[in-house]
Amino acid sequence: MGPYKLLIDGQLLDGDATMSVINPATEEVLVECPRASKAQLDQAVAAAKRAFPAWAATPIDERRKALLAMADAIQGDLETLSRTLVQEQGKPLQDAMGEVFGAAAFFRYFASLDLPEKVIEDSDARKVISRRRPLGVVGAIVPWNFPIILMAFKVPAALLAGNTVILKPAATTPLTTLRIGELVKDILPPGVLNVISDANDLGGAITAHPDIRKVSFTGSTETGKKVMAGAAEALKRVTLELGGNDAAIVLDGVDPKEAAPKIFGAAFQNSGQVCIAVKRAYVHESIYDAMCDELARLADAAVMGDGLQQGVTLGPLQNKSQFEKVLGLIEDAKTKGKVIAGGGRAEGKGYFIRPTIVRDIEDGARLVDEEQFGPVLPVIKIKDGEDAVRRANASEYGLGGSIWAKDLDRALDLAGRMDTGTVWINKHAELAPNIPFGGAKFSGVGNELGEEGLAEFTQQHVINMAKA
Ligand code: NAD
Repeated sequence: MGPYKLLIDGQLLDGDATMSVINPATEEVLVECPRASKAQLDQAVAAAKRAFPAWAATPIDERRKALLAMADAIQGDLETLSRTLVQEQGKPLQDAMGEVFGAAAFFRYFASLDLPEKVIEDSDARKVISRRRPLGVVGAIVPWNFPIILMAFKVPAALLAGNTVILKPAATTPLTTLRIGELVKDILPPGVLNVISDANDLGGAITAHPDIRKVSFTGSTETGKKVMAGAAEALKRVTLELGGNDAAIVLDGVDPKEAAPKIFGAAFQNSGQVCIAVKRAYVHESIYDAMCDELARLADAAVMGDGLQQGVTLGPLQNKSQFEKVLGLIEDAKTKGKVIAGGGRAEGKGYFIRPTIVRDIEDGARLVDEEQFGPVLPVIKIKDGEDAVRRANASEYGLGGSIWAKDLDRALDLAGRMDTGTVWINKHAELAPNIPFGGAKFSGVGNELGEEGLAEFTQQHVINMAKA
């Protein structure tokens, strides 16, 4: 495995220091990896700034070709990237392969987009044209739950628009991102993409850096607030994809046997460490018992283990602090509701928590009100959908949510009242590169993906010409 290098100005470099990366399934050190210094961040930003004018002036067709070549490079390394992702992040190999493959697809999607000039008005009095220009150096900051796909929300869009990029993964999952830097090094001119890894200590410097014009950040709401504050001095643009507490609202008439596996999948994928996981289920009283039983059955049937082992459906939590946080929430929930599956850590090494279902729990319990970001789901009994929407909306978060119903008109009506960026009907947590994604309230600012996501990496440039 490795050696891993930073990518700065087209060069693969050692870090000024090193740090250990832990395999969460074994708690053992996987490898030592580079840790960039502030001076190395400054070098990367200087290189990106130097590379910007030529990259911005490169015809968009050439930039598209670079994205397609990057997609091929990522996909061509599917096996190694996926296995490395399992070892640093913890998810099962199948899911890791899906993430890597998906990232390549996201690069291809952005390569299919254009930034056409628009004629806003062409009258006797004037001709008004709008163009989209790049912003400059973009800082892309990624968390540890989906290092590769979340990188692919940002990097191809930033590059297609003509920006240059400083990419920084989370301290506990740097390896696959560094490897991608190495894979694409010769596809792009030096300085266009720089990849640096840190010990969770350079995010603030990226956010505040005077030569970075935009920060595209995915992570927790608390850190997102710091990013916004840090970006204020240099008035840089921010896109913030933050935490969530998605509710799944299940109405009467829904078949628990049909819906439970889908809800379980959306709650426990990646061991619940998904921003848009189902984090609380509001279930109608007429099907409440049956739904709880189905969810508990699915939890008991999940196969937990090292993601490299065949047949494993649930990996460990990614890091110790998240592991301890989720265990604390489960302990608290034991006093507020009834645990009907799981209920704590697994024996032995690794940050494993048994998939946990808690019933007879209400709003006000920490497990319902806070973002658990782990393999534990509270199931709350409801009398009607309106009340559930009101309770779902009472959260400060507003990332996603879902309505599960037989009657689609009723589902649409309730969906229209959810204060979230996305509402799914009879499914949850589906993302695609062409569908814009963003959070309401404390879940974020701005959008990623789709044409709207691309536009966020640009400056609108209007030319207004007198005719008369
Ligand atoms: P985090 O906020 O701790 O870290 C995210 C990234 O920010 C890391 O790369 C970290 O090094 C960096 N960082 C740390 N301090 C910083 C600072 N002061 N300024 C700038 N960057 C800094 O988040 P996490 O714990 O790694 O990720 C989990 C959270 O991310 C959850 O709340 C989850 O819901 C959220 N998330 C949101 C989305 C979304 O699209 N909305 C997607 C995935 C995860």
